[in-house]
Amino acid sequence: MGLVGCPSDLGHGLEATARRRLTWAELMKRVFALDVLECPICCGPMKIIAEITQPSVIRRFLAALELPSEPPEVVPARPPPQIEFDWADGADVGHVAVDDTRLHHV
Ligand SMILES: [Zn+2]
Repeated sequence: MGLVGCPSDLGHGLEATARRRLTWAELMKRVFALDVLECPICCGPMKIIAEITQPSVIRRFLAALELPSEPPEVVPARPPPQIEFDWADGADVGHVAVDDTRLHHV
């Protein structure tokens, strides 16, 4: 006893479940509403012309652009209380009062 079908049936069902992966540019646009492939100067389309993966080359590029090539130092979180932010122009964001045990809106 054997199965009956044609070779083209093998892929059926996969099309419905397989989803196309989004490119990083599509993800950036979807999540941040940022078109990373749009030229910031002329708004024209840009394309990827190279992928640099060697750390030494990346450091040289960053140095040429006068950008930091080392990650920032990781420091421990500051303990409470939270220092109040200086919100510009009296934006109505509410105030948070801080006491020794918990935070609450006032
Ligand atoms: Zn341009």
